[in-house]
Order: sequence, then structure tokens, then C-alpha cells
Amino acid sequence: MRIKQHYPLFINGQYVESSNGEVFETINPATEEVIATVAKATKEDVDHAVEAARAAFESGKWPKMTAAKRGRLLNQIANLMRERFDDFVYAEVLNSGKTVDAAKGQILQAIEDFEFYAAAAITLQGDTNQVPNGFFNYTVKEPVGVCGQIIPWNYPLMMAAWKVAPALAAGCTVVLKPASYTPITAYMLAEICQEAGVPDGVVNVITGSGSEIGPYMIEHPGIDKVAFTGETETGKDIMRRASGTLKRVTLELGGKSPNIVFDDCDIEAAVNGSLYGIFYNTGQSCEARSRLFVHEAIYDEFMEKFLEKASRIRVGNPFEKGVHMGAVISRSHQQVIDSYVKLAVEEGGEVLYGGKIPEGEEFEKGYWYMPTVIGNVKNDMRVAQEEIFGPVVVVMKFRDEEEVIQQANETIFGLGSAVWTKDHGRAHRVASRIRAGIVMVNSPISAFPGTPFGGYKQSGFGRELALETLNLYTETKSVVSYIGSKPLNLFGI
Ligand code: NAP
Ligand code: MG
Repeated sequence: MRIKQHYPLFINGQYVESSNGEVFETINPATEEVIATVAKATKEDVDHAVEAARAAFESGKWPKMTAAKRGRLLNQIANLMRERFDDFVYAEVLNSGKTVDAAKGQILQAIEDFEFYAAAAITLQGDTNQVPNGFFNYTVKEPVGVCGQIIPWNYPLMMAAWKVAPALAAGCTVVLKPASYTPITAYMLAEICQEAGVPDGVVNVITGSGSEIGPYMIEHPGIDKVAFTGETETGKDIMRRASGTLKRVTLELGGKSPNIVFDDCDIEAAVNGSLYGIFYNTGQSCEARSRLFVHEAIYDEFMEKFLEKASRIRVGNPFEKGVHMGAVISRSHQQVIDSYVKLAVEEGGEVLYGGKIPEGEEFEKGYWYMPTVIGNVKNDMRVAQEEIFGPVVVVMKFRDEEEVIQQANETIFGLGSAVWTKDHGRAHRVASRIRAGIVMVNSPISAFPGTPFGGYKQSGFGRELALETLNLYTETKSVVSYIGSKPLNLFGI
């Protein structure tokens, strides 16, 4: 067994069962088999985790440790993750249904995130500021405190790393809640943090129903900051609830990212990049480029190549070599995806490829969906406006730059976007006008440790993965000191 059969909660450096003993099953979405049971946290367990994180913070053990030493421990976490790379890949594929290649890339990135923030920890510095004679002012960056971090199922370990690594680097303590579908790698990470020498209580992991314990976490007075990645609607609920205690909030939410293919692009590169941009991770990516805009002059040529390559995408056992798309996360998600395809047809769209659950013996168990391409779409249709979060791309034809920029921006979201063109001026002109946190120019990928990742508009706010993320885990303290030789007597009494 490369994973455990049961995962209790991880609180204060120890595995503990939930206070009422309840557990839930976690499954392999490619086979529907139960792979482990997991403790289901209660509100009481949330209290314990928050108390542990608070005590670890107040004791000063972690926040007052030198940044250099915290950095060394983050490097040690990365080293241990590298040693267990294959186990992480195995657990992630088993629990999420994603392919081995996708899991490898994401786990490598999670490791590099820890390495990036290990190096970045020591860059957190204050300033001295110009103040009137007789005064002296300096600022200190202090950790914000206890962080409640709630993450989704699409990139389980990577999302954990995006949140835990900068929080630890800044000196914060953490209560991490992974998604109920994909809890395993978060627990593996917690064990490694402890093994690396991170003090007890600094990293706590709890699992349980987001709709039951999530709101309790968000409203908890013992938590100073909430960092959330997930659906836009959940993000809105979180923001409302966080207002009661004025928590610091960062939100990484949904998207409906435009992928713009100009007639002067390298068609081969644009076809490959557009294909990867939507079908990578079985389309379950926040930055999935799910609205494909193709210039009318190359539409036929582009679509012929795009559809031909879409037909060569292999769906199947995610552990098998050569498979491009694994399972989707759950039966209910598979049904949501399928209902969007039916809606597209009702709205006047045309299924150009896929549009159904694949057939055959290997698909009898598990949750599958074919790579799906829908043409004859207008940007105001629901399938062009709502996040499907599956392997479904809608295609639209455009005439000129102005028109496509306008349509690209006609969405409540603003997370990713992509531009395919050989015209350098056009690439950056369009990039400057797209209202989104990320623009990919002739690139199918968008995220490396160090590149800010996050949204405009209803895709959220705050940036992850970057140096500036550290600031979101700190408060600035301004220390003003009087250094004059005569006592001040401002009342003159
Ligand atoms: P979700 O349904 O919003 O759930 C995300 C997390 O929130 C889970 O841990 C969930 O717990 C918990 N949760 C559910 N209801 C809650 C509540 N009322 N209060 C607090 N927490 C609550 O999102 P998902 O379906 O897991 O993930 C897909 C979404 O994530 C997509 O919209 C995608 O675009 C977005 N995403 C965004 C980014 C980005 O960087 N912008 C990256 C990746 C994914 P349970 O699992 O127990 O329900
Ligand atoms: Mg959800």
C-alpha cells in the first residue's frame, strides 16, 4: 500500500480522529473504488485546530524564528517531497483521476513553490521613512497570524503548496482544509512538514464538509486571514462571512478565459496550444481557455486541424502511458458537464466533436467525458458565459482586433487569457487591453513559481505564486519614535 487506508485529522503535530468519530470515504474517480477513509471534522475539531495554530503562533516559535531558518525548513520540506515524488504522483492520480503527466508537472511545481518561498522568506523587509527632524520611523513586516486555507480538488497538492508555502515563509501558522474529493496529498504534506522540523501546530490539516465546517472556519474569531481557492459563488459567501471579523481575504476563483487566435499566428503552435489550453487536466482548470476565438480568415484551416487533433486525444486509465485525459472528479460533475453540452445545443450551438460520455468497457466504471468542441456559439450564450470546468470548449469566429477584445472582456470573469499572433505589437496591444490577471502570448502555460497568478473582476483578488504573495501574509507595522533631545510638550501646559 502506497497510501494509508485511513487518514485522521492532523492537529498539533498528531493524527487525531474527529471528535464524534465520523469518517467519510474517498474514492478513485477512474474506478469508483474506495481508496481510503478520512476523518470528518466537526466544529469542535475546527476549534482544536485553530487553538493549535494560535498557540504555535503566540508562542513565537514560528513567527519569531529567523527567516533564514524558516527558509531552511521550507527547503527541507521540498527535499522530502522530492524523495517521495513517486508516492505523491501515485496518490494524486489515484485520488483525482488526472493523468500521470499532469500530476508529475503539478507535484514538481508544488516542490518548486516551497523552494521559491524558502529563498523568498528572507526578502521580507521593512523600510525607514522620511519623517520630520527629531523623529525616526521604521516599518516591520509581521506575519498576519493564523491562516485558514481552503482549497479545491482540481490541483490538490499544488493548491496546498501555493497557500502553505508563502504562509510559512512569512511566519504564519495554518489550518488547511483540502477539498473532500481529494484529501490525501494534503495529509502527506502535513506529515512531511512535521518530519522536516516544522514545530507542532504550525501546519494543521482538517477534512470535512465544506458547507458545514467552511462557514464556521470563515467566521472563527481565532483565524486572522482566509485564503480560498474555489468557485466564484463560494468565494462570495466567504467574503460576506469574513466581514464579521474583518478577516484579511484572498480569493482565487473561477474563470472563462478567452483564447484568441489571430490570422497571423503560427497555426501549428496555436492549434497545439489551444488544445492543451482546454483539455489539460481534463478541462478542470481555473485558467482553462474555454472560449476559443478564431479569426475568420483562418477559421476553416484552424478548425480542421484542431478537430483532427481533438479526435486523437486519448481518454482513459490515467495511469496508462499515452493517455491525455483521465476521469472527471465525480458523477455529479460529469452530469453538470453533460447538461451544459445539452444546453449548448438548445441554445443553438453545434457539437463539432465529443459531447458525450465515451463508450466501451473501460468506461463502465468511473466518471468520463469526451473532449468536446462546440461551434456556432455566440458570446452571450450561457455556455460562453458560465464556467463549465470540464473538457468543453466553445468556438467563435471574429473579424477584427477591436471586436475580439470587446468580446473577450464581455464576461464576469478575468482570470486567464491567451493571444496567438506573430505580430509583436499586436500581442502586447491586446495584452494591455484584456481585463484579466494573466495573459499568455503564444504560450500554452501560465504559471511558474515567481509569476503572479490571480484574477480581475469576479475571478477574485490577491495574487499567488509570486513574491508579492508574501505581502498578503503580513501586516505592516509602523514604529514612530521621538529621538529629540528635549522632551515634547505639545499641549504646552
Ligand atoms: P468549491 O466547490 O468552491 O470548493 C472549494 C473548497 O471550498 C472545498 O474545500 C470545499 O469543501 C470548500 N467549501 C465549500 N463550500 C464552502 C463554504 N460555504 N464555505 C467555505 N468553504 C466551502 O470549488 P471546487 O469545486 O472544489 O473547485 C473548482 C473551482 O475552483 C472552479 O471554479 C475553479 O475555477 C476554481 N479554481 C480557481 C483557481 C484560481 O487560482 N483562481 C485555481 C483552481 C481552481 P468540500 O470539498 O468539502 O465541499
Ligand atoms: Mg464545487
